[in-house]
Amino acid sequence: MPASPFTIFPPVTATTSTPFSFDRLANPWIGGLAPYEPGRPIDEVARELGFPDAAAIIKLASNENSLGPSPQALAAIRATATEMHRYPDGNAFHLRNALARHLAIPADHIVPTNGSNEGIEFLGHVFLGPNTSIVMDAHAFVVYKLIARMFRAEVITTPSRDLGHDPEAMLAAITPTTRLVFFSNPNNPTGTMLDEPALDGFMARVPDHVVVCFDEAYIELLPPTRQPDTLRYVREGRNAVILRTFSKSYGLAGLRIGYVIAPPACAQLLQRVRQPFNVNAMGLAAAEAALSDHAHLAATRTLVGAGLAWFEDQFKALGWSHVPAVTNFFLLKVGNGKAIFNALQREGIIVRPMDVYGLPEYIRITVGTRGENEACLAALKRVMKDQT
Ligand SMILES: *Cc1c(COP(=O)(O)O)cnc(C)c1O
Repeated sequence: MPASPFTIFPPVTATTSTPFSFDRLANPWIGGLAPYEPGRPIDEVARELGFPDAAAIIKLASNENSLGPSPQALAAIRATATEMHRYPDGNAFHLRNALARHLAIPADHIVPTNGSNEGIEFLGHVFLGPNTSIVMDAHAFVVYKLIARMFRAEVITTPSRDLGHDPEAMLAAITPTTRLVFFSNPNNPTGTMLDEPALDGFMARVPDHVVVCFDEAYIELLPPTRQPDTLRYVREGRNAVILRTFSKSYGLAGLRIGYVIAPPACAQLLQRVRQPFNVNAMGLAAAEAALSDHAHLAATRTLVGAGLAWFEDQFKALGWSHVPAVTNFFLLKVGNGKAIFNALQREGIIVRPMDVYGLPEYIRITVGTRGENEACLAALKRVMKDQT
């Protein structure tokens, strides 16, 4: 049969030869890297467990904004849809200027990233390599560790204090090879936070051969009076950088948009390792619109505050032990975290097991809408009863 000119892929033929050995050619440290395990997508769980209706599944696994994107961001997304044949503005002119006004910091201090995870990778490109190290809390956001290993840097972890970062221990752990110290503040997954005096104390004593990175993925969920003023360190040109994101408080996780705030000399280094179009045009427009939608952020804070308080009351009444949290998620001690995670999933509730964080007795639950929270607790009561 003559091949159709429209057949793009040739027919697959069985082969008996040994498959090509890519491992032999790969950088030897790559094979040993552990891939990141994200919260499970609703659609995947529905397929796997045979739920006929994916809409019946509740995902409280990735600290997303349960109110959804801001209506203003949605309008911006629709308005930009017809321009998707154009490359985005590689300089992110409008978003950087909007952020500069919002943060009261010059636009040359801001580097947009494809989610704040990409900011962590940029820091790795610029500051890490063999014979360097990072310092992080044992229960801090796991991506710091994954990226450090990708750049062959040593990972130095310090023990937590009441599941929060211990700045004294972190200071003491810094070695001559250390280049980056990470504060996940508030910390994912423990929901704990260091206040401004604790950070000031650390910054007063940190040596000048390290860069201190404040990952503030959830900071906008706190009332402004409770947000530590880390921007001050950057304005003063100190050895500090801040990571922020539109994924959590602003409800735009799917568009992948974050930014690094850094003194200009550092921002220029980060710009050198950035691909020209790392941030997409829809994300840029949506983020700019979301930034000015104060009502949506206020509604998000209110929903999260009420949800946290409701869960706390319920747990108190049940005698269950949770870690007091300041953001839109918390740890709950359930005994066998993996078993409860699996049992909840069968009930159509997706949460997060914590074994990769060395917390196998816990699950992490994102605060959802009132209805989602109630459904989650009802399912939890059922599966906890089964366990005992
Ligand atoms: C969610 C999260 C991020 C990454 O979010 P992006 O979607 O990549 O912006 C970074 N740090 C912490 C602590 C997080 O919880």
